[in-house]
Amino acid sequence: MPFKSTQPDIQLPTAVTIWDWLFDSPSSAVKKNPTSSLRGYSNGITGERINYAQVQEAATYLSTALVKRYGLKEGEAIALFSPNNIWYPVAMLGTLRAGGVISGASPAYNIEEMTYALNKADAKFLVTVPCSMEVAAAAAKNAGIPKDRVFLLEGELEGFTTMKTLLDVGKSYGDNGQIPSFKIPAGKKNRDICAFLSFSSGTTGLPKAVMIAHQNVIAQVLQVQLITPPDLQKILAVLPVFHITGLVHALHLPISINAEVYMLPAFTMKSLLDTVVKYQLRELLLVPPILIRLVRDPLVDNYDLSCLRRFSTGAAPLSEEILHLLKKKFPQTEFKQAYGMTESCSCITAHPPEKYDYKYGHTVGTICASTEIKVIDLDGNELGLNEPGEILTRGPQITMGYLKNPKATAENFDKDGWLHTGDQGIIDEEGMLTITDRIKEMIKVKGIGVAPAELEDLLLGHPEVEDVAVMGVPDDYSGEVAKAFVVLKGDKRGSKEVEQELMNYVKARKVRHKWMTGGIEFVPLIPKSASGKILRRVLRDQSKKTGKAT
Ligand code: AMP
Repeated sequence: MPFKSTQPDIQLPTAVTIWDWLFDSPSSAVKKNPTSSLRGYSNGITGERINYAQVQEAATYLSTALVKRYGLKEGEAIALFSPNNIWYPVAMLGTLRAGGVISGASPAYNIEEMTYALNKADAKFLVTVPCSMEVAAAAAKNAGIPKDRVFLLEGELEGFTTMKTLLDVGKSYGDNGQIPSFKIPAGKKNRDICAFLSFSSGTTGLPKAVMIAHQNVIAQVLQVQLITPPDLQKILAVLPVFHITGLVHALHLPISINAEVYMLPAFTMKSLLDTVVKYQLRELLLVPPILIRLVRDPLVDNYDLSCLRRFSTGAAPLSEEILHLLKKKFPQTEFKQAYGMTESCSCITAHPPEKYDYKYGHTVGTICASTEIKVIDLDGNELGLNEPGEILTRGPQITMGYLKNPKATAENFDKDGWLHTGDQGIIDEEGMLTITDRIKEMIKVKGIGVAPAELEDLLLGHPEVEDVAVMGVPDDYSGEVAKAFVVLKGDKRGSKEVEQELMNYVKARKVRHKWMTGGIEFVPLIPKSASGKILRRVLRDQSKKTGKAT
């Protein structure tokens, strides 16, 4: 029997879009609260702010401009290529209101990576910021997006349409000329209509565009609302909002509960600490590398952080040692953790308030409302309490699959609706999940997923490389970093120079978190199965035996 959530089921609307749910449903916080008490999205550094009524108005104008002037069609994707920015949710919600789809992209992408993302998402428009325009414009050209469909989220640049112009265009149609908000077509449910495309490598292979339905986001927000403490009225958005965690917890959840969001475009310890003190934040949602910095960075000691009551983390494992140091340094704080993935639209499990600090450091929470978990062994047999196996999950937040990739979809989402997570864990008698291992290929560097196949493809293109396997090795600060096992061509032998040459080759072509920080090991052969699949565990064990593994 699957393990079920002990929380009450969520009441999930099935025919409403994210836009109508946020702004026009009986539960809408924007509708229920007078404009004067509406909170909004703030820039944590400059204080620039837009409240939720202004977000609604601006996004309405934007949707009208996109459809009437620029010809956006229902189901077409707009790529958002930007750091956290208060206009990000306007672009996002305006697109959804028009029936479009948002494809978020890391602002750190280079031209090649951005071109791949645009092509995979089949994006028809691109929205970016001035400092990313060089990459954006080149990638748009590669992907066949004309220059007049490349917009600026903020600021100005010669020859590009700005957000201000887009809003003016929308406004020029007058109150009666605004397009109606997109509706779920007759005969369909909100689980059938894609709202977001988000990249993940799944259990194997190259990054794929995960199709996130309107239902998935609404369900996840309702699930998280059930376990959100009432004191969460100020939310820090330092994690990138293009990633599923930021998208749900820093963009959708706050507007659904009328909480203020303080956005930081990039993480620096100083900007984080300044924002915590300035706005007296009580809770911080962070990833393990930032928590590590919090206990180690001497800068922290210059700040009075007694306002903090809670740390929240997810995305990657956190060592118990760091947690104990955290508790020692901030004794007034509690700790909670969540576990999930892009394919589950964020959380599968999370600590509810009554379980904060439970089995400190090991557990990643109880099963979210309306969600089930099954733990299986290698033969697919269901396991019981305290027996480790692969985690499968089913619920309304489980996404639609991968865009135009039925093979990968069938491999990860089975016909009975179970998502195969590629993670291993155990459930205890309190219904708490502990993650014990990751069995899929994905590497997690500072909480960001890296697909080994992407780096293997790249290195195979190097003239000296005959064969290669990439995997994650543990790293104190980043959690994991990528390491390559390389077979050189002909009778070429590995040397420090070749290692450096290959390291630089990756550095020149990929963003920092994909670099070979774990080193390069030269091997005579990459062990493979009869079907040609890299036997990563065999390689790891061999490397351990020769004492070269970190
Ligand atoms: P992503 O799709 O980028 O969010 O990555 C999802 C993966 O991150 C999961 O399948 C896990 O391998 C890992 N992960 C997420 N949350 C946790 C957590 N709390 N502890 C350990 N690993 C996690």
